[in-house]
Amino acid sequence: MSLIRKEKILKEEAALTEEELTVPEEPGIVKKKSVVTPDYCSLCKGGTKKVTYKDVSILKRFISRRGRIIPASRSGLCSKHQRQVARAIKVARILALLPFVSEE
Ligand SMILES: [Zn+2]
Repeated sequence: MSLIRKEKILKEEAALTEEELTVPEEPGIVKKKSVVTPDYCSLCKGGTKKVTYKDVSILKRFISRRGRIIPASRSGLCSKHQRQVARAIKVARILALLPFVSEE
C-alpha cells in the first residue's frame, strides 16, 4: 500500500469521525450512561428494617425523574428491600404521596 493511499484512508476516517461527532442528537433520545451501583444495600447499612408507604423521603430516592421505580441493578438494594420499596412506592402513588408520572 502506498503512502498516499494510506494518507487518503486516514483522512477519510478522520472525516467520518468528525461527521459522527457533529450529527445533532434527536430530542428524546437519551444516551446510555454507565451507572455506578454501590456494593452494599444502602437501607441495610442504614439499619432500616422495614420500608412503608409513609417513608416518602426514602422512597423518593428510588424513583427516577420521570417517576419510575429504579431497578435493583441500579439502586443497589438487596432483593428484600427492593421488594419493600417497590410495593411501598405503588401504595404511595395511590395515596398521592408520590407521582405516577412526573411533569418533565
Ligand atoms: Zn437491604
